[in-house]
Amino acid sequence: MLREKLEIIAPVYNEEEVLHETLTRFNLLRENLANKNVDVSFLFVDDGSNDSTLEILRNASLNQLHLKVLSLSRNFGHQFALTAGLDHADADYIVIIDADLQDPPELIMDMLNLARKGFHNVYGKRRSRKSETWFKKITAALFYRFLSYMSDTKIPANTGDFRLITKPVHKAFCSMRERHRFIRGMIPWIGFTSIAYEYDRDKRFAGKTKFPFSKMFAFANNAIFSFSTKPILIATRLGLVTITLGFTGAVCIVYLKLFTNTPVPGLTATLTSLSIFSGIQILLIGLVGSYVARIFEEGKGRPLYLVNETHNLKCEIN
Ligand code: UDP
Ligand code: MG
Repeated sequence: MLREKLEIIAPVYNEEEVLHETLTRFNLLRENLANKNVDVSFLFVDDGSNDSTLEILRNASLNQLHLKVLSLSRNFGHQFALTAGLDHADADYIVIIDADLQDPPELIMDMLNLARKGFHNVYGKRRSRKSETWFKKITAALFYRFLSYMSDTKIPANTGDFRLITKPVHKAFCSMRERHRFIRGMIPWIGFTSIAYEYDRDKRFAGKTKFPFSKMFAFANNAIFSFSTKPILIATRLGLVTITLGFTGAVCIVYLKLFTNTPVPGLTATLTSLSIFSGIQILLIGLVGSYVARIFEEGKGRPLYLVNETHNLKCEIN
């Protein structure tokens, strides 16, 4: 019987505290899947770590040929590390997973079974998020609601990047070279049959999250602006509403002047409305500017990431 190939892609940034455990759990899964006719390899993308992460991976790759390492020239960010991994992966099934063991690797068995039934995109859907703060839970819930209103592509709520994809989805993904990347939205855009796989998200095994609030905010902002042009539409509608209000006001003033003795409201009203409307205008210029800035970034056409070194991986460096 022909053996199938499955590759696990895990981005790592300063994960020296968890890596040994991650490797143990990945290797256990590898042994289990070997009995089921599947050859598993791991591709760790070191996203410019400045602790001993790369050294641990380098040493482990010496006697484990199924462990591949791709080290980037600096910290490019989670989404770019994943992109680099996907660009260099080659297997029938590809799994994207965080290295901190929040997404239990053992679940890959079930996900693979679903893919074998014909699903091309088996995405992890979080039933619960252990030990995450109420603040993160609330902001995440609000963000997914807002995003689904703003975006034309259906992006399932409570999903992350943990998923298993097949070759056609992988190939399509590699052809999408946009600079502003929101992978959990890009994959649903590709299409093919998809299914949610519900699971309970664990606590981080060790170490701290690499996503402080500022990075989360930038990530959410990026998701909205790269996935939707609705803000521009909303801006146009707001413009129409203010014009209508302005005209109504003008008609009222003319009426009051010509047909009644009521004094027309003076300077205060003028100044207030002036400052409100100029505020709206500046805000909208900023909004349009956000899209222009994205065109500017895209226009530069720089590479999405740069590779520093590789192990057990045949690839040209840059
Ligand atoms: N990560 C990365 N580059 C970064 C930030 C994070 O490769 O700039 C990796 C990190 O090592 C981990 C995964 O992305 O394997 C998810 O990060 P983290 O667990 O910190 O995010 P959270 O689960 O808290 O959202
Ligand atoms: Mg995590």
